[in-house]
Amino acid sequence: MRKIPSVDALLRSDPGRRASAALGRPVLKRTLNLVLDGVRRDAARGTEPPGPDELVARAASLASWATSGLTRVINATGVILHTGLGRAPIAERAARAAARAAAGYGDLEVARETGSRSPRSARAELLLTSITGAEAALVVNNGAAALLLCLASLARGKRVPVSRGELIEIGGEFRIPDILSASGAKLVEVGTTNRTRLSDYRAAVDERVALVLKVHQSNYRLVGFTAAPSAKSLAGLAHAAGVPFVYDLGSGLLERYPGVPADEPAAVEALGDGADLVIFSGDKLLGGPQAGIVLGRAELVARLRRHPIARAVRVDKMQVAALESVLSVYATGRHAELPVWRMLHEPADEVHRRASRLARELDGELSGAFVVRTDSTVGGGSLPGHTIPSWAVRLRVPDAEATAARLRTGSPAVFCRVEDGAVVFDLRTVPESDLPDLRRAIQYAREGDDLADDLADE
Ligand SMILES: *Cc1c(COP(=O)(O)O)cnc(C)c1O
Repeated sequence: MRKIPSVDALLRSDPGRRASAALGRPVLKRTLNLVLDGVRRDAARGTEPPGPDELVARAASLASWATSGLTRVINATGVILHTGLGRAPIAERAARAAARAAAGYGDLEVARETGSRSPRSARAELLLTSITGAEAALVVNNGAAALLLCLASLARGKRVPVSRGELIEIGGEFRIPDILSASGAKLVEVGTTNRTRLSDYRAAVDERVALVLKVHQSNYRLVGFTAAPSAKSLAGLAHAAGVPFVYDLGSGLLERYPGVPADEPAAVEALGDGADLVIFSGDKLLGGPQAGIVLGRAELVARLRRHPIARAVRVDKMQVAALESVLSVYATGRHAELPVWRMLHEPADEVHRRASRLARELDGELSGAFVVRTDSTVGGGSLPGHTIPSWAVRLRVPDAEATAARLRTGSPAVFCRVEDGAVVFDLRTVPESDLPDLRRAIQYAREGDDLADDLADE
């Protein structure tokens, strides 16, 4: 323990001074503290502490991870809406709109004709109601916030029946029962995990019920002996009882587009089935920025808009700008041009062409790079079990996990799959323009393998 230097001594050392000038003294001080905590814990278990230069190097590496910010990643996992990698990549023009909104002033909350105040999401809401035919729309920070706002505004202190098969966890601590209790609504569980009937709901609906909630199972599927009442029959039941029917769709499929499995609900269909409000995310199948979108009856949307939580979960100007841009693409019927839809619909032949080019450039079969058939997935809690035929480059390496780790920490960073001792690059989620960078990253990571082999031989 006595061999471990103090934070102050390390900050005063030459490497410490250089790192602190480059990265900021408060950040380096903090990361030195974190590194020393770890080293002290190890020392207590008998591990020799590293020298001072190594301690500074570890702290500087942690500090530069924070100060250099989000790193660009090439997504070769074949998971289109990869939650860890930021879900939907947005269209170039939407990204430019967001950057413009961020870097300067804009007419975010003023009407230019009159100079008076105008809600920041008014443009996006006009586009949403135009595209879907909904009476009214509301845009908030994310899907979870939209559901919380809806329940707090309409069901606080009252009961909400939900099927036991729909009490889902989306990941990242988002669980339907927890959102209900945080909103002040009381969950009434109906039915069983695999089978829920309309009569189960009917038995639960009395004068203490505020609304009937249906939640799309999103990231899991029930198969086998299952039953669930249709949205239409639930709407009928709710309306007969004089309460709204709210449908949390999750994914933001606006209409029934070809190539999307029928069990993924679309907003227009749900509204047509009688849903009074539908809720979905902006950055899943919609292919936009993070946002939570509510569509439905004007009188209900107005109650949500007036609730204090609406202000607490409002959208940022960059989100607004990107969403407006994405929605205007939908409005003109060009949504197939959005990156998410391009990746979903690109013919496998096109993906094969990119895979062949990559394999060829990696020196073909001599170096153990093979083009293989694979399956991409949608991810992001959408369409579980649904796969899209794709093509990948499969590369045999001495230690696939180590190569994958080197690829993740390289520059540009590459995320791939590890399968049966090989690294696998699914080209469906890699655009043509990323191929040269991907090839360089792979070659660089393999040189590390050669190095490891040489060291092992020695
Ligand atoms: C994803 C999802 C949410 C949460 O939306 P976020 O935008 O991630 O906050 C809520 N409900 C369902 C059914 C979902 O699939």
